[in-house]
Amino acid sequence: MTDTYDAIVVGAGHNGLTAATVLARRGKRVCVVEKSGQAGGMARTVDYAEGARGPEIAHLLYNLSPKVAKDIALRVETRKLPTIAMSPDGKHVEMAGDTLRFADGTAHPEAEAYAALRKRLVKFARLLGQLSDAPPPSLAEGLAGLRDIGGLARLGLNVKRLGKQDMREFLRIILSNAYDLLLDDLADGPVAGALAADAVRGCWSGPRGPGSVFTLLYRLGQGGDVLLPMRGMGAFETAAKDAGVEMRTRSTVASVMVEQDQVRGVTLDDGTILQAAAVLSSLAAPLTMQLAGARHFDIEATRRLQRMRAKGTTAKLNLVLSATPDMPGLSDAQKAARLIVAPSATHVESAFNPVKYGEASAAPVLEAVLPSLSDPSLCKDGRQVISVIAQFVPHAPDGGWTAAQRDDLSKRIIQTLEVHMPGLQDLITHSTLLTPDDIETLTGAPGGHWHHGELSIDQLLTVRPVNGLSRYSFGVRGYYLCGASAHPGGDVTGSPGRNAALQLLAEGVLS
Ligand SMILES: Cc1cc2nc3c(=O)[nH]c(=O)nc-3n(C[C@H](O)[C@H](O)[C@H](O)COP(=O)(O)OP(=O)(O)OC[C@H]3O[C@@H](n4cnc5c(N)ncnc54)[C@H](O)[C@@H]3O)c2cc1C
Repeated sequence: MTDTYDAIVVGAGHNGLTAATVLARRGKRVCVVEKSGQAGGMARTVDYAEGARGPEIAHLLYNLSPKVAKDIALRVETRKLPTIAMSPDGKHVEMAGDTLRFADGTAHPEAEAYAALRKRLVKFARLLGQLSDAPPPSLAEGLAGLRDIGGLARLGLNVKRLGKQDMREFLRIILSNAYDLLLDDLADGPVAGALAADAVRGCWSGPRGPGSVFTLLYRLGQGGDVLLPMRGMGAFETAAKDAGVEMRTRSTVASVMVEQDQVRGVTLDDGTILQAAAVLSSLAAPLTMQLAGARHFDIEATRRLQRMRAKGTTAKLNLVLSATPDMPGLSDAQKAARLIVAPSATHVESAFNPVKYGEASAAPVLEAVLPSLSDPSLCKDGRQVISVIAQFVPHAPDGGWTAAQRDDLSKRIIQTLEVHMPGLQDLITHSTLLTPDDIETLTGAPGGHWHHGELSIDQLLTVRPVNGLSRYSFGVRGYYLCGASAHPGGDVTGSPGRNAALQLLAEGVLS
């Protein structure tokens, strides 16, 4: 059986769905092929247990591109959450926008320094954020190169417009480490810890790593508000269906067909052939190359793609609780906040050390949220769900993940939470742990990596995923990369998906 489309998208993660929707809304016939039974990739809502739902992997929005939301008519209701930096002494700190105060409402001595630092970081982050909604500048020579460099020139101009002092500061910090930056202005406590954790979440790096300021700014590119998507992350799938995208779930793309250097479609693992003049892959770049066959890429590109670094460091623990846990020092409303357990920036750095040697941190850095407190539709009978991202956890410990190691990791995460939620263990009725290895199995992301490939200086912008393949068009005419390993990177942004689809149209592949 052979069906013919204008474009086929491999993978129904939110980027694949975004790319498909952009094309479908411009009149193209698009089919998305997804190996699992449910769309969404890392951004989907699942049953934790009978009558209790929650985010499977990604749980919060902070980096969604407004251009994407507009372009695909995304209808997602959100609730803005404050962040609570949990303190071992019970004096937790509430961070809401530029405001900092103790959770009991009393003034925090660092409120002024924090507000000034955050304002400065958000200002810089917005500048960088401008680069996210377009392909990165190309290094091509001639007129094309000059045209492409426009975005960078605009950034340069805007950096200059910051004024002398801010411009110097921007250039001083942009490639430096978050640890030094934060501790220039803040004491090494839970506030610095929360910001340091934000800087390296999903990365193979501690806050002392060079470039960790960049990853902090990347997170803040849309202003830094933390949003809980009400009723889960399903809006991308709804937008795609509304636009007329055809979805084929439980279908795995086995290979991409190429003839005479031109994409012709895909072959599914059951032998079905789907034809199209364009194929967009939201798989990581090395897998995208393998689907078409390395022989279609020049030897240098093949070598670079094989070397792309992608070691995941985040695990996910999803719990169903029989009741809302006790959290001394927090009001009922504050229990619904984004909760960060990172007692100091130094703690975050130390937590990174074991993962270098294939071990999980004994005191993991946590980001937890109880979405059912804000969105009671997720849970029945007074139960609650808690969604926890734990860092630093190795992708493949020596000898692989044994049942005992998995059990040990779950216990460490729960014990770390229990310091702030006494009695938590007794409330747990269901527990699901996803190690980075499990995340790779579920989604195909190499190493279970948050960004499908490290977001580091040598894998950014013009060299993301690798030099020579940074502008979505992927080696073969009609073949495009549209997932998190493309510019600007991961998070639930939709930007790689939208940029890739627009680039495909601009290059006239479907005209
Ligand atoms: C633990 C963790 C927590 C996170 N939390 C957040 C968060 O709270 N907020 C945030 O903004 N970001 C978060 N992220 C990052 C974010 O989820 C990802 O960067 C983003 O969702 C990637 O989207 P994508 O569409 O590019 O790829 P994916 O979501 O990985 O989608 C790829 C899709 O391709 C499918 N697929 C794979 N192989 C094939 C094949 N051969 N044929 C067909 N289909 C195939 C997969 O099943 C999958 O559906 C988190 C990441 C991790 C690991």
